[in-house]
Amino acid sequence: MSSSAPLIPLHSPACIVGVIGGGQLGRMLALAARRMGVRTLIWTGGLEAPAVEVADEVIDLAFDDPEALRRCCATATVATVEFENIPRETLDAVAALTPLHPSPQAITICQHREREKNFLREHNIPCTWFAVIANADDLANAMRELNGPGVLKTAAFGYDGKGQVKLEGTENPAEVWAAFDSDRAILEAWVPFEKELSVMVARSADGSMVTYDPAENRHRHHILDVSIVPARVSPAVALEATATARRVAEALDYRGILGVEFFLREDGSLLVNEMAPRPHNSGHHTLDACATSQFEQQLRAVIGLPAGSPRLLSPVVMLNLLGDFWPGETTPPDWLPLFADGEAYLHLYGKRRAIGRRKMGHANFLGLDALERAETMKEQWLKAAGGA
Ligand code: AMP
Repeated sequence: MSSSAPLIPLHSPACIVGVIGGGQLGRMLALAARRMGVRTLIWTGGLEAPAVEVADEVIDLAFDDPEALRRCCATATVATVEFENIPRETLDAVAALTPLHPSPQAITICQHREREKNFLREHNIPCTWFAVIANADDLANAMRELNGPGVLKTAAFGYDGKGQVKLEGTENPAEVWAAFDSDRAILEAWVPFEKELSVMVARSADGSMVTYDPAENRHRHHILDVSIVPARVSPAVALEATATARRVAEALDYRGILGVEFFLREDGSLLVNEMAPRPHNSGHHTLDACATSQFEQQLRAVIGLPAGSPRLLSPVVMLNLLGDFWPGETTPPDWLPLFADGEAYLHLYGKRRAIGRRKMGHANFLGLDALERAETMKEQWLKAAGGA
């Protein structure tokens, strides 16, 4: 714990935040940094990197490249991640040379479903029933024990419903396992949830925490579609979600911004689904609707500054703008209705091609009728693009 760590002076050329990963989260982090006069170095991993055009320095090399590691650690004052699927060796190597927040340990717990679920179980944090699967026999035993519907998920590198198969419970385990492209997985019980919620929590160097109001998340084709804030849940549920998110951050000895996703069941109980050790898609509303955005909050925590207020200034709905809103790969939707709304804010990630349902941007709609306005606009755009 580094409560006595010196603050790195802001506006000092010495302050360069190294960001491992160069996706849209890195881009929004770099934009927040620019506003604060903090410089960023983006290490892309050699992947397509929307963050590059707003970064101060770029390392466009793979995450296992020794030259990239050397340059990152020689330049960055502190480092963070905007993407959790970074090899453990890279995280450890960075942390050995440059302060890395959150810690490699916290990141590696969150990047792997088996470690994540074991961590939750060890800390008595409610989560879905699960079993670890390494072969067809494990799956057969787990399906027998579960005796009902479930989801088989790859242990590593899964996101947005990728690497997941829903099971009714009557399938042949050997056939399911043979068709499943992974050598390690977990089988989770299917949760007939009422809603999905998430809470963003920021934990500072001294261990103090601030939490944002819970978001209510709706998905389309397994990808986040809208986040509604505040979530339409009872104060008791909101309080419990917030308290649980804080417990998770505390147990991870976390520093930075953390997203905790939940299933809310009909009886009002909450189960943690997963954690994201970085800014999260369901926190994008904070850019326009909160006193401090999740990106600024991440920078503050990483640099060693006090947290900003997470206060919600207006009800808000965040609508993800996916590739299927685009009438053509390089033809964007008609944004005029959004600008005409007056209380809707467009955030585009600078991706050139709208392929499939990739995340191209998002829009934040403010006000009490934000959901209705967001839904109307979404339907218009999808209709014009010939999608659904
Ligand atoms: P994940 O990548 O684990 O967050 O899963 C993506 C989405 O699939 C979740 O946001 C849920 O909508 C759905 N899902 C995942 N796991 C379960 C489960 N055990 N029961 C019901 N729905 C699930």
